[in-house]
Amino acid sequence: MVEIRSRSGSLPAIPDDLTIPQFQLDYRDPNRPIRPAHVPCLIDDGSGRRVLFPELQQRTQALANSLSSLYSIGEDDVVLLFSRNHVDYPVAIWAVHRLGGIISPANPDFGQQELEYQLKATKAALIICHPDALKTSVSAARQFGLSSDRILVFNVEGSTSNADYVTVDHLVERGAKLKAFSERKLKPGEGKTKLAFLSFSSGTTGTPKAVVIPHIAVIANVLQLAAHSKVNQDYAPWEDQRYRPGDVASGVLPLYHIYGLVVNLHFLLYCGMAIVIVPKFNFENMLKSIVRHHITHLMIVPPQAVLLCKHPAVKKYNLSGIRYIMIGAAPLSDEVNEMLFRLFPTAHIGQGYGMTETCTVTSIWSIERKRGLSGGAGQLVPGVVARVVKTDGTVGGYNDVGELVVKSPSNALAYYNNHQATKETFVDGWVRTGDEVKITTDGELWIIDRIKEILKVKGFQVAPAELEGTLLDHPDVSDTCVVGVPDEFSGEIPLAFVVLTADADARVQSSSRALEDIRNSIVKHVASNKVAYKHLTGGVVFVPSIPKTPSGKLLRRVLREQAKELRKAT
Ligand code: AMP
Repeated sequence: MVEIRSRSGSLPAIPDDLTIPQFQLDYRDPNRPIRPAHVPCLIDDGSGRRVLFPELQQRTQALANSLSSLYSIGEDDVVLLFSRNHVDYPVAIWAVHRLGGIISPANPDFGQQELEYQLKATKAALIICHPDALKTSVSAARQFGLSSDRILVFNVEGSTSNADYVTVDHLVERGAKLKAFSERKLKPGEGKTKLAFLSFSSGTTGTPKAVVIPHIAVIANVLQLAAHSKVNQDYAPWEDQRYRPGDVASGVLPLYHIYGLVVNLHFLLYCGMAIVIVPKFNFENMLKSIVRHHITHLMIVPPQAVLLCKHPAVKKYNLSGIRYIMIGAAPLSDEVNEMLFRLFPTAHIGQGYGMTETCTVTSIWSIERKRGLSGGAGQLVPGVVARVVKTDGTVGGYNDVGELVVKSPSNALAYYNNHQATKETFVDGWVRTGDEVKITTDGELWIIDRIKEILKVKGFQVAPAELEGTLLDHPDVSDTCVVGVPDEFSGEIPLAFVVLTADADARVQSSSRALEDIRNSIVKHVASNKVAYKHLTGGVVFVPSIPKTPSGKLLRRVLREQAKELRKAT
């Protein structure tokens, strides 16, 4: 059996008896960089409010008191976090974790149907939301059967939509005077099984599923990244250190996605850095924020990299303070990579690769290389072992092309309550990535293609099976298949092949306008039920039938190729 091991450093012992908040807030890790007392953990982008480490500890403690005394949150209760980035986002996570509860993060732009799906799948006991997401929270909670007093709201200056709901500020204030909660401590080894997050991913096939992420997975990935980057190991000259206490990172990545949650939040806090909390991405605001807060680090996704290279506003801002740019979550074109290298001649720039099921980073460009190789996804981080499984099912070695299967101390455990999907993806501690790769003899991982069904639109997952379910609810659709088509900005966008019902077909035969009306109605149907990045911006193509295997499985690859040809022709 050929196993390719990380060669990028050794991993220290990973504490398996600590929860994430104990690791972040209480534990004295001898390797952890020391955060100077004046360096805030978080800075609110809009107001400039700075949250220092002691305040983060106190707010977490007080909120945990309230959640325990007033809402009885405890062992394995799921709290659904339905919010944009907010300075209290980590406070909410850690307060729930301290009580033994589980956090399930969701995109606050989800519609009622999407939120309801997540509430049902996780059987959430409480929602903590951003005021912008309150209306959807209320309607989805009603459908799900959660009473409205189980909805809490983050405080946002100037927002009045939360007047009838209990706010997190109120609970923090009250909690400071309440009886101290009893901390959920872990027995040795329990960190490997005690659930911390239920984050959603579609995996290699099907609709979104809750990924079971234990406490140790997040702690491990933080320590893997730290070991890889030789954080606080007196590595080389100070100028070459990637992360230094007091550095400032932009927090434009959403914290409800695993990349933002683990890398931008937990890892950078570990490094003693400050994170500028940005509730909603807006490119020109991001440029202003870089200058205003003296931002040194950008963690971004490919469409944001495209904007940095091509948006005319970039010239108006002095971005010379940027020392580090990491791009991940989706493929980056060589062209954009090269443009970034030219635009930021002195910065460290490269790609990271990972997925929700591996609780984030599996590879990242090498610390010895200031710039990643164009198109390369970097070196396996310490502790990762890889297999490259070829199409004939045998395990290949260096330079062979095949599906990447990884074992990492950060791997998730399973899909929640989904034995069949678990069996297909999580095998004896290994995770099937659904990505076709090659690992060269110098240890560089190259992502060649995505074998799995999911689309990546602006770095967000779109599950074709989810959109197909919605499309089949439309009265004129009898069969359908959704595929991704390449898009310069978004990476790819969803296109639906649709077979009409006999009734719709008859209307099309008798009226010249009927086809366009049906097309618009289908596009509108998806748009009114799904968050914006899932909309059918790639279009709708009507076909007489959907190609299938004799066993009835959709031949997606055939339709994907057909869609590409159609795009080229238009
Ligand atoms: P998610 O679970 O949403 O993070 O999605 C994980 C998937 O995103 C991976 O399995 C890849 O298909 C894709 N992905 C993540 N990082 C990269 C990268 N650097 N290059 C290409 N694809 C990536």
